[in-house]
Amino acid sequence: MSTPARIDASPDVIAGLDAWRDLPAAQQPVWPDAEALATAVGTLSVYPPLVFAGECDVLKARLADAAVGKAFVLQGGDCAETFASATADNIRDRIKTILQMAAVLTYGASMPVVKVGRIAGQFAKPRSSNEETRDGVTLPTYRGDMVNDFPFTPQARTPDPNRLVRAYNASSATLNLVRAFTTGGFADLRHVHDWNRGFVANSANSRYERMAGDIDKAMKFMAACGADFDALRTVEFFASHEALLLDYERPLTRIDSRTGLPYDVAGHFVWVGERTRDLDGAHIDFVSRIRNPIGVKLGPKADPDYLLRLIDKLDPEREPGRLTFITRMGSGTVREALPSIVEKVTASDAVVTWICDPMHGNTFESPSGYKTRRFDDIVDEVRGFFEVHQALGTVPGGIHIELTGSDVTECLGGAGEIADADLKKRYDTLCDPRLNHQQSLELAFLVAEMLSA
Ligand code: PEP
Ligand code: MN
Repeated sequence: MSTPARIDASPDVIAGLDAWRDLPAAQQPVWPDAEALATAVGTLSVYPPLVFAGECDVLKARLADAAVGKAFVLQGGDCAETFASATADNIRDRIKTILQMAAVLTYGASMPVVKVGRIAGQFAKPRSSNEETRDGVTLPTYRGDMVNDFPFTPQARTPDPNRLVRAYNASSATLNLVRAFTTGGFADLRHVHDWNRGFVANSANSRYERMAGDIDKAMKFMAACGADFDALRTVEFFASHEALLLDYERPLTRIDSRTGLPYDVAGHFVWVGERTRDLDGAHIDFVSRIRNPIGVKLGPKADPDYLLRLIDKLDPEREPGRLTFITRMGSGTVREALPSIVEKVTASDAVVTWICDPMHGNTFESPSGYKTRRFDDIVDEVRGFFEVHQALGTVPGGIHIELTGSDVTECLGGAGEIADADLKKRYDTLCDPRLNHQQSLELAFLVAEMLSA
């Protein structure tokens, strides 16, 4: 068998990948040691890809299905991954939670659920301030394990470019385990369903029992029919993160030899955050030049005219699945702010995938001083998102959730009725508050009800 011919990228395409260097780049750390940065970037640029271009294309096709109501996206994981939390148990529990949610959503939606982790690369965070002051001492703010460390000491907070390489290694180990879990039998739908039965049996809320019972019947029916196909045993699982640190994303961008086109091979899907989506800034320029499916976060102030220019820049060919808008409006705002945005985009010739992030518009500081979110606000924003799309005849394509597989106490409410006084018990996040395992499953059952309504 002959090897297919390798297609090289054009010089323009290669040069374009560095055009961001001449543009304003928000939220980049100030690396104190330029030589160490050059060494780290050089190391990353010869390391193997973490994902393949062909896999990114598959995800693009799945997102195109979600844009037209033939699939539903579940994107979830930590706000900020840490090196310390890249353990087998931790990764397994996150995957397990996402798979359990996906099983419930698949039933509710009666369509495939596209599973995308905020995982294997989510190590860098945008911050509202460059510095943090405690007791008269000012140090650089914590920007994620890819940049510096959390303890409030000058040594820990100094940006260290070696951390870019450590982030690659942690992502690589994480993805290796994710691939093993999702194809090696762990993800078998029958196990996932048994876990969900365990959740419902122990849940304080009996309203989920009926749906779990219905899924049980469907599973028994399939078993009675002798269904034992591969689709029950393995799942497709994709990795995503915010493309924030261009010193990480750029050296991990490679030319696909099948097409001569560049892909960011640090993850299948990357998004640009609310704070870095400046139309003329470095981040939008960079993602405009890679061929992955990409996302942009949109808050309530996103200007509809800006969106049309953004679409022209990021998806000039109107390629299905290329562009996802992840809206994060806030539960009190979504019903007023979302319609004009969706209408304007829909009236143009663009087809984007709409995903609801009900987390980032609903963060506040609790009386006891913790950054938190209310479970009910999260549910209400998703409900508002569905209502808006229903009223406009457009497609609610998925949800984007900050979650963890363990039993943390970071978000208020849910059937476990986590109260302000409980937050201190297990507040483990180094950044935003996450739904715990139980709250995540409750949310999945509630969204499944919305999908089947
Ligand atoms: C995030 O996803 O953790 C984040 C910072 O979101 P946003 O860009 O929507 O504020
Ligand atoms: Mn966050």
